[in-house]
Amino acid sequence: MFCCDELRGWVEQGALYYGTKQRIDDGRIANEIDTEYFIRSASGRGYSYIGINYCPFCGRALSHGLWMAEKKK
Ligand SMILES: [Zn+2]
Repeated sequence: MFCCDELRGWVEQGALYYGTKQRIDDGRIANEIDTEYFIRSASGRGYSYIGINYCPFCGRALSHGLWMAEKKK
């Protein structure tokens, strides 16, 4: 499910989160992107999860929203 080893590595280290929004129980989601990939950032209480559309390392599209947009073309 990972586009590149770099992304996988950061998910394993906990800097990035991969999974459904419903499984996030130690923080809040900071934006409204329809994705299963988040940047996990320590905040005052717990974490902020920042949804991302693209892999920050290899640039591939990650989010459901973008996949859907691609299909409609
Ligand atoms: Zn990648």
